[in-house]
Amino acid sequence: MNLSLEGRTYVVMGVANKRSIAWGIARSLHEAGARLIFTYASERFGKAVRELADTLEGENNSLFYECDVTNDEAIIQTFENIQNDVGVIHGLAHCIAFANRDELKDEFLNTSRDGFLTAHNISSYSLTAVARAAKPLMSEGGSIITMTYLGGEQVVQNYNVMGVAKASLDASMKYLANDLGKHNIRVNAISAGPIRTLSAKGVGDFNQILQEIEERAPLRRPVTQEEVGDTAYYLMSDLSRGVTGEVIHVDSGFNIIGY
Ligand code: NAD
Repeated sequence: MNLSLEGRTYVVMGVANKRSIAWGIARSLHEAGARLIFTYASERFGKAVRELADTLEGENNSLFYECDVTNDEAIIQTFENIQNDVGVIHGLAHCIAFANRDELKDEFLNTSRDGFLTAHNISSYSLTAVARAAKPLMSEGGSIITMTYLGGEQVVQNYNVMGVAKASLDASMKYLANDLGKHNIRVNAISAGPIRTLSAKGVGDFNQILQEIEERAPLRRPVTQEEVGDTAYYLMSDLSRGVTGEVIHVDSGFNIIGY
């Protein structure tokens, strides 16, 4: 089987800086020969994304688009622009989440209506909006992946409203997998173990979460951006052609531990 992604184009949404999980995914897909399209929330991130993409070795014909996923028109326009520029895409990595920092500590009980809606809007609904806009571009079939976390399956201290949004994201992923399967578009989620990123900094006591992994996860170490990136490569490649609607844990096995 040819595992190269040469001749294929993938949209990577959510690179903020070199620590972003989306950047790990971009590097794995690039190494496999893919052409990359980056989208970022606002011009504040545009420069950093372009500079990072410039560091990719070898042929690099990446394209860049601003896309704030809270804006339906922006999403539709972005994918129309991508369609005009490249025609067909073969996959999309949705690596986007946001919740108010002051709701990622203390009790979930205190979640505000606004905070709940913001977290769900950006972290969950955006997958559905983006999948709908991307579908016409996946005329040769495709693979959509999103990033989730154990806090959507079980209670994780301080993860609070983001955990509830991840549960909604996981369910959305399965419904989308069912809708899009007949178009040969697969939809899956990677449940990553904790990785120190910009978003992770917002979660209270993040250092303690990492320490737990080192002490109790079967592999006794945190996972890396590269390991998540390589699983994304698998999900984008034909190796995973029979896999859809699945949550793959890349978390040093932590999710199997009972207490
Ligand atoms: P990150 O901060 O690098 O990435 C989050 C991205 O979301 C940023 O690029 C940010 O600009 C983008 N974003 C926020 N609001 C947006 C909007 N309105 N429109 C467009 N983009 C927007 O952090 P990360 O940890 O790489 O997060 C990527 C994904 O991985 C998230 O879904 C996160 O929940 C998930 N995840 C992270 C971890 C971890 O420990 N870091 C673990 C499991 C899952």
